[in-house]
Amino acid sequence: MPADDRECGRNRHGAPVRRPGSHDRAAVTDAPQSPSADAPCDNPSKPGFPVAWIREMAEYAASAGPAECCGLVLREGIRPCQNVLPDDSARVAYQFSPADAIFVAENADAGTILAIYHSHPEGPADWSAIDERAAWFAGAPLYPKISRLIIGCRAGVPFEIAGYSFTETAWRPYWRSAILP
Ligand SMILES: [Zn+2]
Repeated sequence: MPADDRECGRNRHGAPVRRPGSHDRAAVTDAPQSPSADAPCDNPSKPGFPVAWIREMAEYAASAGPAECCGLVLREGIRPCQNVLPDDSARVAYQFSPADAIFVAENADAGTILAIYHSHPEGPADWSAIDERAAWFAGAPLYPKISRLIIGCRAGVPFEIAGYSFTETAWRPYWRSAILP
């Protein structure tokens, strides 16, 4: 089944709208995956940035295990960040360094940050309760113009990536792709 044939019932989304500048189909496929949440997706085959960048994030995710990696997708490329949580906590969550957190806060509305990414070292790229909690602040979505990317890993090996964006009232999945070894 082509990716474009996947069930898509939502026409509005807050995902990055930039088209990928290149496709690296040797590294990444758009093989369909089942959406992990009830919300349908709008743009399953378009990550909003060059697909080759996924390889960079995946390599960081693999090297960071068993801790979660984290970083930013900027217009000009990937910016890996440091997960400053202690080892035990870093297996299930991430926290930017103060410098990275300030960078995000100062640039959140400038359109230069396309996405915040992190990895799940031992699980799929599903939106977790921790992810949901981290995406809100004082009852409002935190940085709703910036999408969130999750890299799912099995035994430390990245195998999928999924994107989530804030639309209307909730964070919803908008894109999912397999990552080949
Ligand atoms: Zn997560």
